[in-house]
Amino acid sequence: MHAARVLIVGGGIGGLTAAIALRRRGFAVEVIEKDPDWTVYGVGIIQQSNVIRAMADLGLLEEYLGAAFGFDHVDVYLPDGRRAARVPSPKLVEGRPANLGVARPALHKVLGRRALREGAEVRLGVTATALDDDGAGVTARFSDGTEGRYELVVGADGVFSRTRRTILPDAPEPEFTGQSVWRYNLPRPAEVDCLRAYDGPTGVGLVPLSTDLMYIYVTTSEPGNPRYPRAGLAAAMRGKLKDAPPGIAELAPRITDDEGVVYKPEDCLLLEGDWHRGRVVLLGDAVHATTPHLGQGAGMAIEDGLVLADELSRAEAPEAAFRAYRDRRFERCALTVRLSRAICDAQLGKGPPVDQAELTAQMFEVMARPI
Ligand SMILES: Cc1cc2nc3c(=O)[nH]c(=O)nc-3n(C[C@H](O)[C@H](O)[C@H](O)COP(=O)(O)OP(=O)(O)OC[C@H]3O[C@@H](n4cnc5c(N)ncnc54)[C@H](O)[C@@H]3O)c2cc1C
Repeated sequence: MHAARVLIVGGGIGGLTAAIALRRRGFAVEVIEKDPDWTVYGVGIIQQSNVIRAMADLGLLEEYLGAAFGFDHVDVYLPDGRRAARVPSPKLVEGRPANLGVARPALHKVLGRRALREGAEVRLGVTATALDDDGAGVTARFSDGTEGRYELVVGADGVFSRTRRTILPDAPEPEFTGQSVWRYNLPRPAEVDCLRAYDGPTGVGLVPLSTDLMYIYVTTSEPGNPRYPRAGLAAAMRGKLKDAPPGIAELAPRITDDEGVVYKPEDCLLLEGDWHRGRVVLLGDAVHATTPHLGQGAGMAIEDGLVLADELSRAEAPEAAFRAYRDRRFERCALTVRLSRAICDAQLGKGPPVDQAELTAQMFEVMARPI
């Protein structure tokens, strides 16, 4: 399938990674992204050593690390504000950090720039209105009135993927877990030099993103999945921190800008069946959306892109490549979704108590395996 023409629907983390990996293997790649401004919200994410390894495989390591703040351990704090433990994280790339925090816009810039530099064509403000797969190829019609013919289509359009609904109409829909995350950027004090996670009934923590920046997160139970109007979001987030431990409580008054608050319900999805139909295949949150408790959602989307490109470059026909890709990815992604969900349910009192440190160690052990 070496020089096949590929349409990628969605220019997010997974779609851009797939674009880079496919271009590096000689595929002709077109990305459509529905957001005309190609923006992402301002706060950051945590990534682990398996993502650092994946970035090295993509030839992106220096740019990626340059955009991020690396660290080698996680500090766990008690509800009274005392540090309980400093937990080292395993490293998979010698001489490089074990974990990092990276602002989404910074990561997006690294991936977007590289996709363009590798020769992917990116069209913004465009969605696919129809994907007609006739067995020999896919004719796509687009929202701007144009149409194109492709040998393969990759649906990387996130947890509420329209591509998934088009090709697999009977697939399960994402489920709201009952928990949401509030996040806000703040200046980073020098002493916040690794992830600080606070134990207690409300999950709260600090994540360094750069020399100057960190973000604060708080996970809350949100029965009924309420919608919060933008006006008043900062006051609402401060309210969620009213019982926060020392070290966090004094940061709450600095959450003042409604526009800076990122509130996200946690939606979960795991597609147990096929991840493709005909010549159209799915990756990332479109097939395995996880809660953020293990910091692996974006990592799984990134690894998907690498593995899909690898399988497509070796196969004669899409069916074999898509099956091999799903076989290589399923257990790893399923574990991430299931363990993260178990932590989430335990926090909400909807599931049995779990030992988060034990589940994190299990995750690290699996993530260290080759992809
Ligand atoms: C609160 C929260 C915290 C998280 N924290 C972390 C973390 O710390 N670490 C981590 O690894 N992961 C984290 N994640 C998970 C991570 O954000 C996702 O797993 C990751 O973004 C998935 O990448 P994706 O490319 O599959 O989807 P997305 O990043 O959602 O990208 C999908 C893209 O497709 C575009 N699109 C959608 N529909 C269409 C369409 N019809 N046509 C064209 N384009 C379309 C969207 O605009 C978007 O650009 C977190 C998630 C949440 C909700």
